[in-house]
Amino acid sequence: MRRSLILALVMVAIGAQAKFIPDPIVQYKVDARLDPQAKTLKGHEVIRWRNHTSDTIPDLQFHLYLNAFKNNLSTFFREGGASSRRVRFRDEADSWAYVAVQSIKVDGEDLTARMQYIQPDDGNPYDQTVMRVPLSRPIAANGRVTIEIEWTSKLPRVFARTGFLDNFFLVAQWFPKPGVYEGPGDRHREQGGWNCHQFHVSTEFYADYGTFDVSLTVPSDYEIAASGDERSSKQNGDGTTTHEFYQEEIHDFAWTTQPQSQVQKIVRTFRADEQVTPSEIAEWSRKEGVPPEEVRLKDVKVTLFIQREHASQIERHFRAVFAALKWYGIWYGKYPYDVVTFVDPPSPFGLGAGGMEYPTFFTAGTSYWPAARQLSPEGVIVHEFGHQFWYGLVGNNEFEEAWLDEGFNSYSTGKVLEKAYGPNYAYQRVFGVPIPVQSWLNLPVPRYPWKGVDGVPIGQYWEWVPEYHWQPSRRYWQEAETDAMERFAWLDLNRSSYGVQAYDKPELTLRTLEGLLGEAWPKVIRTYHMRYRFKHPDAIDFMNTVTEVSGRDFKWFFDQTLYGTGRLDYSVSFTTGAAPEKDGFFDENGKQVLVRPEKGDEDDDDKGPVESEVLVRRLGEMVFPVTVRVKFDDGSEVFEHWDGQYRWQKFKYTNKPKIVMAEVDPDRQWKLEVPRTDNSALKEPVKLAPEKWYLRWVVWIQNVLMAFSFFS
Ligand SMILES: [Zn+2]
Repeated sequence: MRRSLILALVMVAIGAQAKFIPDPIVQYKVDARLDPQAKTLKGHEVIRWRNHTSDTIPDLQFHLYLNAFKNNLSTFFREGGASSRRVRFRDEADSWAYVAVQSIKVDGEDLTARMQYIQPDDGNPYDQTVMRVPLSRPIAANGRVTIEIEWTSKLPRVFARTGFLDNFFLVAQWFPKPGVYEGPGDRHREQGGWNCHQFHVSTEFYADYGTFDVSLTVPSDYEIAASGDERSSKQNGDGTTTHEFYQEEIHDFAWTTQPQSQVQKIVRTFRADEQVTPSEIAEWSRKEGVPPEEVRLKDVKVTLFIQREHASQIERHFRAVFAALKWYGIWYGKYPYDVVTFVDPPSPFGLGAGGMEYPTFFTAGTSYWPAARQLSPEGVIVHEFGHQFWYGLVGNNEFEEAWLDEGFNSYSTGKVLEKAYGPNYAYQRVFGVPIPVQSWLNLPVPRYPWKGVDGVPIGQYWEWVPEYHWQPSRRYWQEAETDAMERFAWLDLNRSSYGVQAYDKPELTLRTLEGLLGEAWPKVIRTYHMRYRFKHPDAIDFMNTVTEVSGRDFKWFFDQTLYGTGRLDYSVSFTTGAAPEKDGFFDENGKQVLVRPEKGDEDDDDKGPVESEVLVRRLGEMVFPVTVRVKFDDGSEVFEHWDGQYRWQKFKYTNKPKIVMAEVDPDRQWKLEVPRTDNSALKEPVKLAPEKWYLRWVVWIQNVLMAFSFFS
């Protein structure tokens, strides 16, 4: 009896721990009404906000993201925002958008007259994406305020993650939202202060975790889906219905609505017991060093909001999202919410709303006839779901350290696709010649039809990695030295450099780190994820976790990859052949004796002693420890190790057979290395001409197709 009571108490304690944080920094109660004809929203919100720091705070700051689309002089447009996510902004009257605050009260006091726009990032007087409100009474440490705001939003024609297209609405970045007040020590800051950046072209978002209770009023014949779970709906008797959505412990809220005649809403349950086998749980519990209970997943209600003309792709959508729920959950920790909703926007023009993540809610996007093995929409579904983990749960600051979500998530996307769909395939034949299929997320990548050289696929010889990280490698090569990964994203030289520093280089960096860490890696990445769930970590937190869990010092690695712009590039070459025979005067017993080589066949090289030399050169600025594999013609091998510091190193062999091959980084751990072609050298020349032409053609096609790609 007592024993079972204790057990029950323990269970209660565990149950309580598993619940979301009881006293969130921010609690929203929002009411909004959509006018589908005017493309506007009228909104009212009550925000309970808590000062979680030891600072006394003199003002409040809010994001007013929709003002990025207010006119062509906003910082968003000055940074080149006229086209975004493959969609060109249509500068027609109904495209411009805004969010206008009509009134703001703090603890009942009307502060509307004090509202001011500030531009903390660039001083652009036309930018109105950040609002500051000085307070009469500063907020004491651990103090609370209640903020009441009335506002109107005009939505843009679908563009840059939000807006309308006819009667389709993707409503995101739509309400006045407090910035994050960071106290001393938060994200390794020395002094406290508001972290509330302007809306930029490249960067995304940052906000505190909290509770959202949101009531949305739309026409009664409209379907609706949103962050969180629908708790109630009631008809208002005027042709509209009010739907109430609720979710705890998320940091943003987005929703979509469209006439029921155009969309289908399908709800299915991800059943953990059916999706994950006991042996998978055992395997990953061992690899991650956690008890099996922690690897076990929970059931999740999954809602798909799909255009009726895409109904034939419903199964593909669910298969992809289930794969993502499974593998992200197994590797990093179970998806903790009860629900997830994903939206297929109308194609092609609604795709400006596609490929974007919000907590428990994300948008995908597809075309009318995706090829069966093209992995689109699958790639984008896995990726955007993945942001539930990287950015949704581990809430990094996307403005300042974009790579911590995009990089971790790009890395994870590739891993899930490999698991769920196998190594990749997609190329199509045009006039009998295979060419790669490019999806709009740059996934998937081609498998080379030729067998390659010495059993290694051509792709590895060309620029290395043959499968999912082949594309990042190619793009990284072009922008390796432009910017550093660890940098405020809107300060990158251009969009293409941002793409490389936020997505491609970090993905290759994490793949490289995974190779270097070996068995410690699953523990490292899981520990980092679980430790910083519902928190705002920065790069230092990640680096510290790597050091702590692996017990090894990776400062040399992070200094070069996160903060540096150097390239990793080693090359190898060798000479091998008959050692020189004696020719000339040699001392023998105190006499000068003339020795001449024996006359023989020219092809006599194979007899007699052999002399060989392997030359490894460091061509890039990154310094990595080097392993070289040297293969001899009797089939034997030696492995050489070098600290990689100086510009070159030679290895000499005298009592060995001839060398047939030498290779740097034989285990191919350095996914960051470009180019890979010079990483191995073969004795026999290989007829590479057809492959070279093929590759040149592939590069050309990839570059053309890349013009159509975009990031999310
Ligand atoms: Zn992303």
